Order: sequence, then structure tokens, then C-alpha cells
Amino acid sequence: MKILIDNGHGVDTAGKRSPDGSLREYSYTREIARRIVQALTAEGFDAERIVTEEEDISLRERCRRVNAVCRSLGSKNVLLVSVHNNAAGSGGQWLSARGFSAHVSLNASDRSKRLAKCLWQAALDNGLRGNRSVPAEMYLAQNLAMCRDTLCAAVLTENLFQDNREDVAFLLSEEGKQAVTAAHVQGIKTFIKQNQ
Ligand SMILES: [Zn+2]
Repeated sequence: MKILIDNGHGVDTAGKRSPDGSLREYSYTREIARRIVQALTAEGFDAERIVTEEEDISLRERCRRVNAVCRSLGSKNVLLVSVHNNAAGSGGQWLSARGFSAHVSLNASDRSKRLAKCLWQAALDNGLRGNRSVPAEMYLAQNLAMCRDTLCAAVLTENLFQDNREDVAFLLSEEGKQAVTAAHVQGIKTFIKQNQ
């Protein structure tokens, strides 16, 4: 199984930071994506980031990169996780929403839904609980280009809220980075095991 990790936005994407500027989504998700790829590779999995540039790469180009891999290896042999930080507002103030969520597209395949469930369960197991209810199906369906326009199992993870003070403190701690990384690594491994 080829594991593709997308780290979302770029250094030039407007907004996408904590109100105090201590967390910037493009930078945080790149660090987490690197850690996920490193951890999976160390365990013998075939994982890579699809965006190694610092600047924003268009959704169209990111989907093109994923689909090129899908066409060469077969869609069933590829999975994609796009790593993000959530926000309850537009970034100007601290708000109360906390926690992790896993998102699929409105046209999601059963495989994408299963991958989302594996990731959400692993997030809960790693303490990324938050203060909102977890849906029974363990995914949220939304119109998301990275999931909608890619040919493989594809999930977008929102890793806590960049406009919640407690979430940001945890995200920026070494403990937090390890928990977010472990949630992805475990979730992906569970999904692969189920698909063997
Ligand atoms: Zn984002």
C-alpha cells in the first residue's frame, strides 16, 4: 500500500494561524506530515508527502499528483490523508471548540469511510478527544476537493483547533505532536491490516 500524506496549505495561504501567531497551519502540518512519513517508513511502510514545497500548491495540482500515483499503482493500492488544523472562527480570537475530526467527501467510497473511522478511533485512543460529540459513523462528509477528486481512499483530518488556547498549547507541545503523529500512524496501520 502506498501511503500519501498531504500537508494542506502553504506559507503564502492567508490566515490559517492561531490568534497569537504561535501556530501556523502550513508549518505545523508539514512538521506532522514529516513525522508521520518518518514513523511509517521506519516500520517498513511505503509513505511519502505529496507536497514538499513550502508554498501553497493548488488543489488541482495536489489531486493530479495523487491520481498519477493511483493510475500507476492502482487506486486500491493507494491511500491519502490530508493533514490540517481546524478553526471555529476566522482566526482573530480564541474560541471554545476543541478536538479532532476526520472528514470524507460527499461521494466517499466505503474505503474512505473505513479509513476515516480508523483514524478517528486512533485519535480518540491517543487522547485527542475535544469537547464535541463524535458521530456514530466516525466521519463527517463534506465537499472537499482533495477527497472528492482523488481516485483512492482519501480522508482529511482536522487536528484540533488552531483558535482554541488549550488545543494550541497541546498541539505545540512535544506530547501533542507525538499524539497527533501516533493517531495517524496507528489509524493508517489499522486500515492496512483490515485490507489485507
Ligand atoms: Zn486547513
